[in-house]
Formats: sequence, C-alpha cells, structure tokens
Amino acid sequence: MTANAKVAFQNEPRTSINLFGRFDDLGHHGLPARLGIMGGTFDPIHIGHLACAEQAREAFNLDAVIFIPTNIPVFKQDRKVTSAADRLEMCKLAVESNPAFDVSALEIERGGETYAVDTLRELRAFYPENVELFFITGADAVAHITRWKESSEVAHLAQFIAVTRPGFSLTAEKKEEIEQGGLFKVHYLEATSLAISSSDLRERVSKSKSIRYLTMQRVRDYILTKGLYQEGVE
Ligand code: NAP
Repeated sequence: MTANAKVAFQNEPRTSINLFGRFDDLGHHGLPARLGIMGGTFDPIHIGHLACAEQAREAFNLDAVIFIPTNIPVFKQDRKVTSAADRLEMCKLAVESNPAFDVSALEIERGGETYAVDTLRELRAFYPENVELFFITGADAVAHITRWKESSEVAHLAQFIAVTRPGFSLTAEKKEEIEQGGLFKVHYLEATSLAISSSDLRERVSKSKSIRYLTMQRVRDYILTKGLYQEGVE
C-alpha cells in the first residue's frame, strides 16, 4: 500500500464502533503498533492465562492484548463447553484491572464453529496495516495449526506466540513441521504459570475444592454464584 493510500484508508469512516473494546483506535494515527490476540475457550479463564498474556505483552512489546473467547471450539466437540455468555462474562471480570487488556465478543457474535482465519480476517480488515497481529495461544493448540481451516491464510495474517506449559514442549521435528519451511512465524514462550489448567479448575469445583487464588476473585465469585462446573469434568 502506498503512503497516500494508507492515509486514505486511515481516514475512511469506520463501520464498526467499539468492535475491539478500548483498543479500537490502535494504529489509527499511523504509528506502528503490536496487538496480541489471546484466543482460547477460557472455560474458565484462570491466572495462568492472565499471567501468560502479561508475559507475552512484555516479551514481545505488545501495545495491547485482546482476549477473544471462542464460540464453538472446533477441536473440542467431545465435551460440553460452558455457555459462551458465561465464558465471556468471566473473561471481562478477569481482565478489567489491566489497562493493557480487553475482551472482544467477536467470535461469539459471529456464531457457529470458531475458526481463527475468520477472526484474523476481521481484525486485519479493521486495523490499519501498521498494526501487527500476534495470535497467542497454548502450544498444544499451535501444534495443530497446519490442520486449521485455510492454514496458509492464517500464517499470512498473523504471527503466533505459542505458550508452553511446564512438562509440555514441542519436539524440534514438530516445530519444523509447524513452521513448514517458513510459512508460519511462531515464537515460543515458556510460562510457568500455565501449570494451572481450566480442566483442573473445573474438576476442583466439581469436587467442592477451593479455586481461591487460581483465578481472579470476581471470576471465582461468578462461578460459585452461578453454580458452574458442579457436574464434574467431561
Ligand atoms: P485448547 O485445546 O483448549 O488449548 C490447548 C492448550 O492451550 C490447553 O492446555 C489450554 O489450557 C491452553 N490454552 C488455551 N488458550 C490459551 C491461551 N490463549 N494462552 C495460553 N494457553 C492457552 O485450545 P482451544 O481453547 O480449543 O483453542 C485455542 C485457540 O486456538 C482458540 O482461539 C481457537 O479458536 C484456536 N483454534 C483454531 C482452530 C481453527 O481455526 N481451525 C482450531 C483449533 C483451535 P487451558 O485448558 O487451561 O485453557
């Protein structure tokens, strides 16, 4: 895009207001910006997610991180996922104290099965070219990106930050397979905080065990008030 075209693009009327929350204006003054997109089911969100988003923000110099809870996660149809409305609300409660974080209901409002390519296309169309996109998610999910819908388009639209859990690291062969001769740009980030998992929290709640300090207090209050995760882990 030429400099003039970029300015014209930036001056076009915006079709959507508050699509990505408090960071709608990112990059709209022509300055380079780096946006983290924290994609996940977040069933429920926990301090591991929050700490790793913060560590990714710091390590990769991100200006902001938007948490985007999935609607229907495609690789997770073997278990019941908590309603999108509850997962969205928990994400909002969890991030509200961090000025660099926000939540978008983009995938939930789009409905149906969630594909990263659709989300990245919407983000790419919304933000000017000077905003670089970094899709942050668990390395276990990134291990399968070559099988994601329109994977080469996904690779073209964003760089990846693959967060590894302690005890889970991708082999050199797997990393090579993911990067597919330079198609995907993947950065790896080891986050000790990710020893905590959503399934662990669900199991603890179902066994009436404490989840205090494993998630933000307001999320814990929400889970207990709404009686979520009482039925056990599927
Ligand atoms: P998942 O299989 O539930 O997650 C894999 C692992 O990564 C789990 O251990 C999970 O821990 C962790 N994790 C999930 N989100 C994370 C995050 N943002 N940061 C750090 N760790 C994270 O994966 P998922 O939630 O279904 O999907 C992850 C993302 O990949 C979503 O945005 C999804 O839309 C996308 N995805 C896209 C496609 C596609 O386009 N075809 C296919 C699969 C996934 P917890 O269980 O503790 O969260």
